[in-house]
Amino acid sequence: MTRQHRLATLAVQAGEDHRGQFHPLSTPIVQTSTFIFPTSLDVQRYSEGKSSAYMYTRYGNPTLHAAEVKIAALEGGEEGLVTASGMAAISTAALTVLHTGDEIVSSRNIYGGTFHFFNKVLSKFNIGTHYFDGDDLEAAERLITPRTRLLYLETPANPTMRIIDLRRAVQIAKKHRLFSMVDSTFGTPVLQRPLKLGFDLVMHSVTKYLSGHSDIIGGALVGSHKVISEIRDTMKRLGGIMDPTAAYFLLRGLKTLTVRVERQCETASRLARFLARHSRIERAHYPGLKSSPYHRLAVKQMGGLFGGMVAADLRGGRRAAMRFADRLRVFQNAASLGGVESLISLPVLTSQWGYTPQQLRDVGITEGTVRLSVGVEDARDLIEDIRQALE
Ligand SMILES: *Cc1c(COP(=O)(O)O)cnc(C)c1O
Repeated sequence: MTRQHRLATLAVQAGEDHRGQFHPLSTPIVQTSTFIFPTSLDVQRYSEGKSSAYMYTRYGNPTLHAAEVKIAALEGGEEGLVTASGMAAISTAALTVLHTGDEIVSSRNIYGGTFHFFNKVLSKFNIGTHYFDGDDLEAAERLITPRTRLLYLETPANPTMRIIDLRRAVQIAKKHRLFSMVDSTFGTPVLQRPLKLGFDLVMHSVTKYLSGHSDIIGGALVGSHKVISEIRDTMKRLGGIMDPTAAYFLLRGLKTLTVRVERQCETASRLARFLARHSRIERAHYPGLKSSPYHRLAVKQMGGLFGGMVAADLRGGRRAAMRFADRLRVFQNAASLGGVESLISLPVLTSQWGYTPQQLRDVGITEGTVRLSVGVEDARDLIEDIRQALE
């Protein structure tokens, strides 16, 4: 197993730990808080940093390690780190990289939890965040001051799959010597690998596509050995570690990542085309549609795949969207995304709750927008479900 192998091979095989008494094919769950040392001398050697033994699961655990190696291989990075949640990954990384008085320049269209972490938590430490429209990276450059330390992006972004030009963004970060970080949760390594383009850190909520079965909460970070070691030290202190059983489900889900995501992209393209043509739909949002303002960038940046998320603005506003969601039988109405089950959610009832009409326009949605997370069911059943719910 080497890094030279292709993504689908790495997804199945990288990181798996076949050692242990019985040579298991799948990596065991090492569900323990602590580890036994044969002698006190072994403890001393561990504390001197001269042994690869494990001591305590908050400092490291073989099941977590296997997941970290696999995700790092998929992203093409030196080292990975798994965390208790996507938010633990973001907060632990930010609290490692930033100091009091630093500033963040961030794309505006980011996950709500991240937005609140920046505005409500980091602000208490005198760390300010300035937001730019992801379509306008020149605006990002104008926000940079001598205090700016972090360029933060999310692409593709919820709920309409806006895409930011990663190559251009990394040029700006390098020119101004900023630390660059991207939330690649919607992209997955199947669509984009930001580290290969020069980003310092890539982050995932593995709750979504990477675990892929809506059964765990977790996060991951991948970067250079130096960057990840520093973040790992912070994590040991903050404590947001992943549980070994969650790491097992993550490893298991990752094996089918490419199969799932390719299928989800294919089905999402079909659904987007169907929605774009339907008379009850004002507008469909999907970067795979030729009419999308992000189509050309998506082709260049995401290797011919366009993601498994589709949004559509229904005619008739919130009432029409709620009626549509309630009439679906295959799609379930639930938050979250990226799993094998198809889900629907209404941004005005969830991620964009309480937004004013102007704020909704800024995000590019309406009262009637629905967001679909496409699963791996048969595309014909999903289209049939949408057709009957619209009519
Ligand atoms: C869900 C999500 C997060 C937060 O991850 P949790 O695992 O819920 O903590 C961050 N970013 C994006 C894009 C997400 O979808």
